[in-house]
Amino acid sequence: MVLDRLCSLEKNKRPLKLVDLPDPVPGEKEILIRVLTCGVCHTELDEIEGRTPPPHLPVILGHQVIGRVEGTGSQARTYNIGDRVGVAWIYSACGRCTFCLAGNENLCDEFKATGRDADGGYAAYMTVLEDFAFPIPSIFSDSEAAPLLCAGAIGYRSLRLTGITNGQNLGLTGFGASAHLVLKMVRHRYPKAKVFVFARSERERNFSRELGAVWAGDTSDESPEKLDCVIDTTPAWKPIVEALKNLEPGGRLVINAIRKEDTDKDYLRRLDYPAHVWLEKEIKSVANVSRRDVREFLELAAEIPIQPEVQEFPLQDANQALIELKTRKIRGAMVLRVEQA
Ligand SMILES: [Zn+2]
Ligand SMILES: [Zn+2]
Repeated sequence: MVLDRLCSLEKNKRPLKLVDLPDPVPGEKEILIRVLTCGVCHTELDEIEGRTPPPHLPVILGHQVIGRVEGTGSQARTYNIGDRVGVAWIYSACGRCTFCLAGNENLCDEFKATGRDADGGYAAYMTVLEDFAFPIPSIFSDSEAAPLLCAGAIGYRSLRLTGITNGQNLGLTGFGASAHLVLKMVRHRYPKAKVFVFARSERERNFSRELGAVWAGDTSDESPEKLDCVIDTTPAWKPIVEALKNLEPGGRLVINAIRKEDTDKDYLRRLDYPAHVWLEKEIKSVANVSRRDVREFLELAAEIPIQPEVQEFPLQDANQALIELKTRKIRGAMVLRVEQA
């Protein structure tokens, strides 16, 4: 399923086209992967609508890829044919710059994203450097594993960046795929931490309570206790302003969103310095993921274990899945299944 032109999903409900392409050939240190499943992510909407545009078109989207190794380059020795592997948002990084050497390869100038800067998993086959593929714990099915690779790994990084300790209060603004995985991680790793959820729909609020949130309210509600940290996973600005008012002095807001939409940008005018910013409150964004985040999260997810709720679509229905994601019709994560011919 190929994206050959950026467009608005309001005007064009079928941005991706099913085409027949030659199978990719792995380079020396690459592996060829036969794709089994690929998760559908909000970032794909940002790519299609031009908020984080692919540098070259046409491109194959998809960065939560589960597949089997089908071929290896002459210098690729880590995996055997038939091994199950995953590919996440991090497709490659230079490995030599100060960021890479310090373990912050997610900030590398040459960071390449799967399904944006290189062809991804909305396809029957893809190639990737063997060092940027991950073994997948056997506890997960092909569909369950896919959403862990993005929503889970980025959720894990967001949680790391909050600096939370056991017993502290964490807020979650928005309760989609990533946030619900964060809640499960917190319950396991920081059992004394209390989680407060801010979501627009009653359905999401109920879901969060079922998963162990101590409180759930609307985006602009005041939380019953001040929060040490908040993770925002929404595409909007209102939750940013509203979350800042609930932070403790010295608290940190972590924004886990690759881009914000412009629709409610005016809400930022309500930012009141004493109420929202004063007393050393911090705002930090989350950019991409490192391989460490993906590896550590997969281990943690298998240990908990986290088994995401998923809804499957055949690959050729990718457009329908994207529209349903855009209009938030679905609870849990969406996964494309590639049916092999
Ligand atoms: Zn993603
Ligand atoms: Zn680098």
